[in-house]
Amino acid sequence: MSAEPSLAATLAELGQPGYRHRQVTEAKRAGAEGFDEVSTLPATLRAQLSERLPFWSMTPEREAVSADGTRKWLLRAPDGVAVELVLIAHAAGRRTACLSSQAGCALACRFCATGAMGPGRDLSSDEIVDQALLATRAAAEAAARLTNVVFMGMGEPLQNLDAVLPAVRAIHAPEGLGLSARKIAVSTVGWVPGITRMSAEEVPARLAISLHAADDDTRSELMPINLRYPIANLLAECRRYCDTTGRRVFIEYLLLDRVNDAPADARRLATLLRDGRFHVNLIEYNPTAGPYRASPPERREAFQRALARSGIEASLRRSRGADVAAACGQLATGGSG
Ligand code: SAH
Repeated sequence: MSAEPSLAATLAELGQPGYRHRQVTEAKRAGAEGFDEVSTLPATLRAQLSERLPFWSMTPEREAVSADGTRKWLLRAPDGVAVELVLIAHAAGRRTACLSSQAGCALACRFCATGAMGPGRDLSSDEIVDQALLATRAAAEAAARLTNVVFMGMGEPLQNLDAVLPAVRAIHAPEGLGLSARKIAVSTVGWVPGITRMSAEEVPARLAISLHAADDDTRSELMPINLRYPIANLLAECRRYCDTTGRRVFIEYLLLDRVNDAPADARRLATLLRDGRFHVNLIEYNPTAGPYRASPPERREAFQRALARSGIEASLRRSRGADVAAACGQLATGGSG
């Protein structure tokens, strides 16, 4: 956990009512830069909070802007830990924030720059919500609106659900950021115990699985987590999640040239997903230090056609922000980031 006490715990310790937390959140959204600027709080409380904890749990240290309008910040916590936050620009003034949940990742997916960093500490719920608040403000400054939040930055959110679930609830709550559950996505390598927990608790978000292969040999090669939770176990847990929550599951499939992008892979994938409530997103590979290449357009289209013939419609997610290493899988701090 973060070295700092949480805002909620500090307010509780000071004997404050629950709505104080909301007042601080509202002030952060509206542009306040310190507790002394939260005019809805009594003056003594402003002073007490300023003494006890920083107003922002993480602060921007560096910014990079892509030619496509995507922005990336390096954020640092008072204990020195750093993560990256990405704001993706879409048409019509819409923005998607890509949040980090851990300052590194223990799961070592071979195609991912965060995986190459190794494990880092779990972020606290304040640190996650502050990323969303900073993104809201950055969007507003550009006369745009934060419409979507995805947990696709650094880390494995399902290994930090104690902080991610309260953060999702705060981002969803009308008195928080007020995003609907359809506009929040939590993405996982397939950490099965986390999926079980997401089935058991009402979580206002979509669940996305980074599947990336349709057979265990290929998947284990790409994602060592597959040795622990092979595809059949993972998809069985996803079906349970669909049954208990009534929600669909989003399957992410990264297209890697001659690794997982043959028409036969598409047919295998369609067989795996038969009878399920799944939606497939194909993802363009963004270069990292790993040994892979993106599928060329003709292989990608052939894969998509083979999927469609097997009854699965898939959308293609285009790469954004790759020129400043802000795209999926490129986030890292310290080394290449
Ligand atoms: N740990 C979570 C969330 C972070 S990654 C997860 O794995 O789902 C968010 C998405 O980016 C995942 O689907 C991940 O597999 C994908 N990704 C990782 N490296 C990538 C790369 N080099 N190019 C494109 N997508 C990548």
